[in-house]
Amino acid sequence: MSILVPPLLRRLLRRRPADRDPPAHRGPEAARGLRSTARTPAHSAGQSRPERIERKAGRPELLISRPYLLDTLLDGLDALDVPRRLGVNVDDVDPLLADSDLVVGADGINSAVRGASFGGRSGPRQVGTVAWIGIAGFESGVYGETWGKGRFFGMTPVEPGRTNWYATVSEATTAEQLRDHFADWHDPIPRILHETDPSTWIRYEMRHLFPALPTFVHGGKVALVGDAAHAMTPNLGQGACTAILDAEALTRAVAEHTASDLPGALRAYDTERRRSAQRIAFGSRTLHRLMSTHRTGARDAVVRMLPG
Ligand SMILES: Cc1cc2nc3c(=O)[nH]c(=O)nc-3n(C[C@H](O)[C@H](O)[C@H](O)COP(=O)(O)OP(=O)(O)OC[C@H]3O[C@@H](n4cnc5c(N)ncnc54)[C@H](O)[C@@H]3O)c2cc1C
Repeated sequence: MSILVPPLLRRLLRRRPADRDPPAHRGPEAARGLRSTARTPAHSAGQSRPERIERKAGRPELLISRPYLLDTLLDGLDALDVPRRLGVNVDDVDPLLADSDLVVGADGINSAVRGASFGGRSGPRQVGTVAWIGIAGFESGVYGETWGKGRFFGMTPVEPGRTNWYATVSEATTAEQLRDHFADWHDPIPRILHETDPSTWIRYEMRHLFPALPTFVHGGKVALVGDAAHAMTPNLGQGACTAILDAEALTRAVAEHTASDLPGALRAYDTERRRSAQRIAFGSRTLHRLMSTHRTGARDAVVRMLPG
Protein backbone atom coordinates (compact mmCIF):
# COMPACT_ATOMS: atom_id res chain seq x y z
CA MET A 1 0.00 0.00 0.00
CA SER A 2 1.22 3.49 -0.64
CA ILE A 3 0.49 6.74 1.11
CA LEU A 4 -0.53 9.84 -0.80
CA VAL A 5 1.50 12.66 0.69
CA PRO A 6 0.27 16.26 0.42
CA PRO A 7 2.85 19.01 -0.02
CA LEU A 8 2.62 20.23 3.58
CA LEU A 9 3.54 16.80 4.89
CA ARG A 10 6.56 16.54 2.66
CA ARG A 11 8.21 19.20 4.77
CA LEU A 12 8.03 16.81 7.71
CA LEU A 13 9.66 13.96 5.86
CA ARG A 14 13.34 14.69 5.66
CA ARG A 15 14.50 12.19 3.07
CA ARG A 16 13.19 12.59 -0.42
CA PRO A 17 12.27 9.29 -2.05
CA ALA A 18 11.93 10.59 -5.59
CA ASP A 19 13.90 7.66 -7.02
CA ARG A 20 11.54 5.06 -5.52
CA ASP A 21 8.21 6.87 -5.59
CA PRO A 22 7.40 8.78 -8.76
CA PRO A 23 4.64 11.43 -8.57
CA ALA A 24 1.05 10.33 -9.09
CA HIS A 25 -0.84 11.34 -12.21
CA ARG A 26 -4.60 11.74 -12.51
CA GLY A 27 -6.94 12.88 -15.23
CA PRO A 28 -10.08 12.10 -17.20
CA GLU A 29 -10.66 9.15 -19.48
CA ALA A 30 -14.17 8.00 -20.31
CA ALA A 31 -14.53 4.22 -20.20
CA ARG A 32 -17.64 2.15 -20.89
CA GLY A 33 -20.04 4.38 -19.04
CA LEU A 34 -17.87 4.30 -15.94
CA ARG A 35 -16.76 7.50 -14.31
CA SER A 36 -13.00 7.45 -14.64
CA THR A 37 -10.12 9.66 -13.64
CA ALA A 38 -7.66 7.09 -14.95
CA ARG A 39 -5.29 8.21 -17.66
CA THR A 40 -1.85 7.67 -19.06
CA PRO A 41 0.49 10.54 -18.18
CA ALA A 42 1.42 10.97 -21.84
CA HIS A 43 -2.20 11.54 -22.87
CA SER A 44 -2.99 14.23 -20.34
CA ALA A 45 -4.45 17.45 -21.65
CA GLY A 46 -4.45 20.76 -19.81
CA GLN A 47 -3.33 21.06 -16.23
CA SER A 48 -3.64 17.99 -14.01
CA ARG A 49 -4.28 17.97 -10.27
CA PRO A 50 -0.61 17.24 -9.37
CA GLU A 51 0.50 20.05 -11.65
CA ARG A 52 -1.96 22.46 -10.00
CA ILE A 53 -0.71 21.38 -6.56
CA GLU A 54 2.88 21.81 -7.64
CA ARG A 55 2.21 25.28 -9.04
CA LYS A 56 0.42 26.40 -5.88
CA ALA A 57 2.73 24.80 -3.31
CA GLY A 58 5.96 24.74 -5.29
CA ARG A 59 6.29 21.02 -4.65
CA PRO A 60 5.00 17.92 -6.41
CA GLU A 61 2.45 15.49 -4.98
CA LEU A 62 4.25 12.28 -4.04
CA LEU A 63 3.39 8.70 -3.23
CA ILE A 64 5.45 6.95 -0.58
CA SER A 65 5.15 3.24 -0.02
CA ARG A 66 4.27 2.31 3.55
CA PRO A 67 7.47 0.27 4.28
CA TYR A 68 9.59 3.20 3.12
CA LEU A 69 7.67 5.62 5.33
CA LEU A 70 7.98 3.32 8.35
CA ASP A 71 11.74 2.88 7.75
CA THR A 72 12.15 6.65 7.56
CA LEU A 73 10.27 7.18 10.82
CA LEU A 74 12.23 4.41 12.56
CA ASP A 75 15.52 5.94 11.37
CA GLY A 76 14.41 9.21 12.98
CA LEU A 77 13.74 7.36 16.23
CA ASP A 78 17.22 5.74 16.10
CA ALA A 79 18.79 9.17 15.78
CA LEU A 80 16.98 10.34 18.94
CA ASP A 81 18.21 7.40 21.02
CA VAL A 82 14.76 6.98 22.58
CA PRO A 83 14.31 3.86 24.74
CA ARG A 84 11.62 1.63 23.26
CA ARG A 85 10.05 -1.77 23.60
CA LEU A 86 8.66 -3.23 20.41
CA GLY A 87 6.09 -6.01 20.04
CA VAL A 88 4.44 -5.45 23.41
CA ASN A 89 0.65 -5.53 23.42
CA VAL A 90 -0.85 -3.12 25.95
CA ASP A 91 -3.96 -4.71 27.43
CA ASP A 92 -4.16 -2.62 30.58
CA VAL A 93 -3.56 1.11 30.19
CA ASP A 94 -3.74 1.91 33.93
CA PRO A 95 -0.09 1.01 34.73
CA LEU A 96 1.03 3.29 31.87
CA LEU A 97 -1.09 6.11 33.24
CA ALA A 98 0.32 5.60 36.73
CA ASP A 99 3.98 5.55 35.58
CA SER A 100 4.01 8.26 32.87
CA ASP A 101 3.65 12.02 32.58
CA LEU A 102 2.11 11.64 29.14
CA VAL A 103 0.48 8.67 27.40
CA VAL A 104 0.10 9.03 23.61
CA GLY A 105 -2.50 6.68 22.19
CA ALA A 106 -1.24 5.94 18.66
CA ASP A 107 -2.74 2.46 18.71
CA GLY A 108 -5.08 2.61 15.75
CA ILE A 109 -8.79 2.24 15.20
CA ASN A 110 -9.27 -0.29 18.06
CA SER A 111 -7.29 1.92 20.46
CA ALA A 112 -7.00 0.54 23.99
CA VAL A 113 -5.94 4.01 25.18
CA ARG A 114 -9.11 5.55 23.70
CA GLY A 115 -11.23 2.88 25.36
CA ALA A 116 -9.57 3.47 28.75
CA SER A 117 -10.03 7.25 28.50
CA PHE A 118 -13.39 7.63 26.78
CA GLY A 119 -15.18 4.30 27.24
CA GLY A 120 -16.94 2.58 24.37
CA ARG A 121 -19.20 5.35 23.08
CA SER A 122 -17.00 6.07 20.05
CA GLY A 123 -15.73 3.00 18.23
CA PRO A 124 -15.06 1.43 14.84
CA ARG A 125 -18.15 1.38 12.63
CA GLN A 126 -18.44 -0.51 9.36
CA VAL A 127 -19.47 1.54 6.34
CA GLY A 128 -20.81 -1.37 4.29
CA THR A 129 -18.02 -1.98 1.79
CA VAL A 130 -14.86 -4.04 1.60
CA ALA A 131 -11.56 -2.82 0.16
CA TRP A 132 -8.95 -5.04 -1.44
CA ILE A 133 -5.45 -3.81 -2.12
CA GLY A 134 -2.45 -5.27 -3.93
CA ILE A 135 0.58 -4.53 -6.04
CA ALA A 136 0.86 -5.70 -9.64
CA GLY A 137 4.27 -6.76 -10.89
CA PHE A 138 4.10 -4.49 -13.95
CA GLU A 139 3.58 -0.81 -14.70
CA SER A 140 0.01 -0.33 -15.87
CA GLY A 141 0.82 2.99 -17.55
CA VAL A 142 -2.69 4.14 -16.55
CA TYR A 143 -3.22 5.74 -13.14
CA GLY A 144 -6.27 7.14 -11.38
CA GLU A 145 -9.68 5.89 -10.34
CA THR A 146 -12.69 4.45 -12.16
CA TRP A 147 -16.04 4.64 -10.38
CA GLY A 148 -18.85 2.24 -11.25
CA LYS A 149 -22.14 1.23 -9.66
CA GLY A 150 -21.46 0.47 -5.98
CA ARG A 151 -17.77 -0.16 -6.62
CA PHE A 152 -14.58 1.55 -7.69
CA PHE A 153 -11.03 0.68 -8.73
CA GLY A 154 -7.85 2.73 -8.39
CA MET A 155 -4.28 2.44 -9.64
CA THR A 156 -1.24 4.47 -8.58
CA PRO A 157 2.42 4.27 -9.49
CA VAL A 158 4.48 2.95 -6.59
CA GLU A 159 7.94 1.84 -7.67
CA PRO A 160 9.56 1.13 -11.03
CA GLY A 161 8.04 -2.02 -12.50
CA ARG A 162 5.08 -2.12 -10.11
CA THR A 163 1.53 -0.70 -9.85
CA ASN A 164 -0.33 -0.17 -6.60
CA TRP A 165 -4.05 -0.99 -6.93
CA TYR A 166 -7.14 -0.91 -4.73
CA ALA A 167 -10.70 -2.03 -5.29
CA THR A 168 -13.84 -1.42 -3.25
CA VAL A 169 -17.07 -3.40 -3.54
CA SER A 170 -20.08 -3.98 -1.33
CA GLU A 171 -19.09 -7.62 -0.82
CA ALA A 172 -16.40 -10.01 -2.03
CA THR A 173 -14.90 -12.61 0.23
CA THR A 174 -12.81 -14.42 -2.38
CA ALA A 175 -10.42 -13.33 -5.13
CA GLU A 176 -12.71 -14.90 -7.74
CA GLN A 177 -15.66 -12.81 -6.54
CA LEU A 178 -13.53 -9.69 -6.76
CA ARG A 179 -12.38 -10.56 -10.28
CA ASP A 180 -16.01 -11.12 -11.30
CA HIS A 181 -16.96 -7.64 -10.08
CA PHE A 182 -14.46 -6.06 -12.49
CA ALA A 183 -14.40 -8.65 -15.29
CA ASP A 184 -15.92 -6.31 -17.91
CA TRP A 185 -14.16 -3.12 -16.82
CA HIS A 186 -11.64 -1.35 -19.03
CA ASP A 187 -8.05 -2.43 -19.49
CA PRO A 188 -5.82 -2.83 -17.48
CA ILE A 189 -8.20 -3.52 -14.56
CA PRO A 190 -9.13 -7.18 -15.33
CA ARG A 191 -5.51 -7.81 -16.36
CA ILE A 192 -4.22 -6.47 -13.04
CA LEU A 193 -6.59 -8.71 -11.10
CA HIS A 194 -5.72 -11.78 -13.17
CA GLU A 195 -1.98 -11.24 -13.23
CA THR A 196 -1.43 -10.68 -9.51
CA ASP A 197 -1.24 -13.43 -6.95
CA PRO A 198 -4.33 -13.32 -4.69
CA SER A 199 -2.26 -14.64 -1.78
CA THR A 200 -0.58 -11.19 -1.69
CA TRP A 201 -3.86 -9.24 -1.69
CA ILE A 202 -5.15 -7.69 1.50
CA ARG A 203 -8.85 -7.38 2.32
CA TYR A 204 -10.30 -4.76 4.71
CA GLU A 205 -13.79 -4.25 6.00
CA MET A 206 -14.08 -0.48 5.57
CA ARG A 207 -14.57 1.22 8.91
CA HIS A 208 -14.35 4.63 10.51
CA LEU A 209 -14.56 6.00 14.04
CA PHE A 210 -18.12 6.92 15.01
CA PRO A 211 -19.30 9.11 16.59
CA ALA A 212 -16.48 11.65 16.38
CA LEU A 213 -14.72 12.23 19.71
CA PRO A 214 -15.51 15.40 21.69
CA THR A 215 -11.77 15.82 22.38
CA PHE A 216 -8.46 14.14 21.50
CA VAL A 217 -7.05 14.61 25.05
CA HIS A 218 -8.02 13.40 28.50
CA GLY A 219 -7.18 14.10 32.13
CA GLY A 220 -4.17 16.32 31.41
CA LYS A 221 -1.98 13.34 30.52
CA VAL A 222 -3.51 11.39 27.61
CA ALA A 223 -3.43 12.41 23.93
CA LEU A 224 -4.80 10.42 21.01
CA VAL A 225 -3.25 10.68 17.54
CA GLY A 226 -3.99 9.11 14.17
CA ASP A 227 -6.64 6.42 13.76
CA ALA A 228 -7.06 6.18 17.54
CA ALA A 229 -8.42 9.73 17.42
CA HIS A 230 -10.16 9.92 14.03
CA ALA A 231 -10.02 6.71 11.96
CA MET A 232 -11.46 7.52 8.56
CA THR A 233 -12.32 5.71 5.35
CA PRO A 234 -9.32 5.80 2.98
CA ASN A 235 -11.05 7.68 0.15
CA LEU A 236 -9.10 10.90 0.49
CA GLY A 237 -5.85 9.01 1.13
CA GLN A 238 -5.34 11.11 4.26
CA GLY A 239 -5.43 8.79 7.30
CA ALA A 240 -1.69 8.27 7.67
CA CYS A 241 -0.94 11.83 6.55
CA THR A 242 -3.29 13.20 9.20
CA ALA A 243 -1.69 10.93 11.83
CA ILE A 244 1.73 12.40 11.07
CA LEU A 245 0.39 15.95 11.24
CA ASP A 246 -1.14 15.09 14.65
CA ALA A 247 2.21 13.77 15.89
CA GLU A 248 4.03 16.89 14.72
CA ALA A 249 1.47 19.22 16.32
CA LEU A 250 1.56 17.30 19.62
CA THR A 251 5.37 17.33 19.71
CA ARG A 252 5.39 21.07 19.06
CA ALA A 253 2.71 21.80 21.66
CA VAL A 254 4.61 19.87 24.34
CA ALA A 255 7.89 21.62 23.40
CA GLU A 256 6.25 25.05 23.59
CA HIS A 257 4.82 24.55 27.10
CA THR A 258 6.64 24.11 30.39
CA ALA A 259 6.77 20.64 31.94
CA SER A 260 4.30 21.74 34.61
CA ASP A 261 1.81 22.87 31.98
CA LEU A 262 1.21 19.59 30.19
CA PRO A 263 -2.58 20.10 30.37
CA GLY A 264 -2.08 23.43 28.54
CA ALA A 265 0.00 21.69 25.87
CA LEU A 266 -2.69 19.06 25.38
CA ARG A 267 -5.40 21.72 25.09
CA ALA A 268 -3.30 23.50 22.45
CA TYR A 269 -2.85 20.23 20.55
CA ASP A 270 -6.58 19.49 20.67
CA THR A 271 -7.43 23.00 19.47
CA GLU A 272 -4.99 22.79 16.58
CA ARG A 273 -5.84 19.33 15.32
CA ARG A 274 -9.33 18.13 16.26
CA ARG A 275 -11.54 20.16 13.96
CA SER A 276 -9.18 19.88 11.03
CA ALA A 277 -8.77 16.09 11.36
CA GLN A 278 -12.49 15.53 11.88
CA ARG A 279 -13.30 17.66 8.82
CA ILE A 280 -11.04 15.44 6.73
CA ALA A 281 -12.62 12.30 8.22
CA PHE A 282 -16.09 13.64 7.39
CA GLY A 283 -14.97 14.55 3.87
CA SER A 284 -13.52 11.10 3.37
CA ARG A 285 -16.72 9.40 4.52
CA THR A 286 -18.79 11.66 2.25
CA LEU A 287 -16.55 10.87 -0.69
CA HIS A 288 -16.85 7.17 0.12
CA ARG A 289 -20.65 7.49 -0.15
CA LEU A 290 -20.35 9.26 -3.49
CA MET A 291 -17.84 6.80 -4.91
CA SER A 292 -19.70 3.67 -3.85
CA THR A 293 -23.26 4.80 -4.53
CA HIS A 294 -25.59 2.78 -6.77
CA ARG A 295 -27.24 6.03 -7.97
CA THR A 296 -24.57 6.73 -10.52
CA GLY A 297 -26.62 9.16 -12.63
CA ALA A 298 -27.04 11.61 -9.74
CA ARG A 299 -23.43 11.13 -8.69
CA ASP A 300 -21.99 11.77 -12.12
CA ALA A 301 -24.15 14.89 -12.47
CA VAL A 302 -22.72 16.20 -9.18
CA VAL A 303 -19.17 15.40 -10.22
CA ARG A 304 -19.65 17.17 -13.57
CA MET A 305 -20.52 20.35 -11.66
CA LEU A 306 -17.24 20.31 -9.71
CA PRO A 307 -14.52 22.70 -10.87
CA GLY A 308 -11.48 21.35 -12.71
C1 LIG B 1 -7.25 0.31 2.21
C2 LIG B 1 -6.62 1.48 2.91
C3 LIG B 1 -5.90 2.42 2.17
C4 LIG B 1 -5.30 3.53 2.79
N1 LIG B 1 -4.63 4.46 2.03
C5 LIG B 1 -4.08 5.55 2.62
C6 LIG B 1 -3.37 6.53 1.85
O1 LIG B 1 -3.20 6.43 0.65
N2 LIG B 1 -2.88 7.61 2.50
C7 LIG B 1 -3.03 7.78 3.84
O2 LIG B 1 -2.54 8.79 4.38
N3 LIG B 1 -3.69 6.86 4.60
C8 LIG B 1 -4.22 5.77 4.03
N4 LIG B 1 -4.90 4.83 4.78
C9 LIG B 1 -5.09 5.08 6.22
C10 LIG B 1 -3.88 4.67 7.03
O3 LIG B 1 -3.55 3.31 6.80
C11 LIG B 1 -4.18 4.87 8.51
O4 LIG B 1 -4.84 6.10 8.73
C12 LIG B 1 -2.87 4.87 9.30
O5 LIG B 1 -2.24 3.62 9.21
C13 LIG B 1 -3.15 5.21 10.76
O6 LIG B 1 -1.94 5.18 11.44
P1 LIG B 1 -1.95 4.95 13.01
O7 LIG B 1 -0.51 4.89 13.39
O8 LIG B 1 -2.83 5.94 13.68
O9 LIG B 1 -2.64 3.53 13.23
P2 LIG B 1 -2.14 2.08 12.72
O10 LIG B 1 -1.43 2.19 11.41
O11 LIG B 1 -3.33 1.20 12.83
O12 LIG B 1 -1.06 1.69 13.80
C14 LIG B 1 -1.43 1.36 15.11
C15 LIG B 1 -0.30 0.57 15.75
O13 LIG B 1 -0.61 0.32 17.11
C16 LIG B 1 -0.41 -1.02 17.40
N5 LIG B 1 -1.35 -1.40 18.46
C17 LIG B 1 -2.70 -1.50 18.39
N6 LIG B 1 -3.24 -1.84 19.56
C18 LIG B 1 -2.19 -1.98 20.41
C19 LIG B 1 -2.08 -2.36 21.81
N7 LIG B 1 -3.16 -2.64 22.54
N8 LIG B 1 -0.84 -2.43 22.35
C20 LIG B 1 0.26 -2.13 21.60
N9 LIG B 1 0.22 -1.78 20.30
C21 LIG B 1 -0.99 -1.71 19.72
C22 LIG B 1 -0.68 -1.77 16.10
O14 LIG B 1 -0.03 -3.02 16.09
C23 LIG B 1 -0.08 -0.79 15.07
O15 LIG B 1 1.29 -1.00 14.93
C24 LIG B 1 -5.46 3.70 4.19
C25 LIG B 1 -6.17 2.74 4.94
C26 LIG B 1 -6.74 1.64 4.31
C27 LIG B 1 -7.51 0.63 5.14
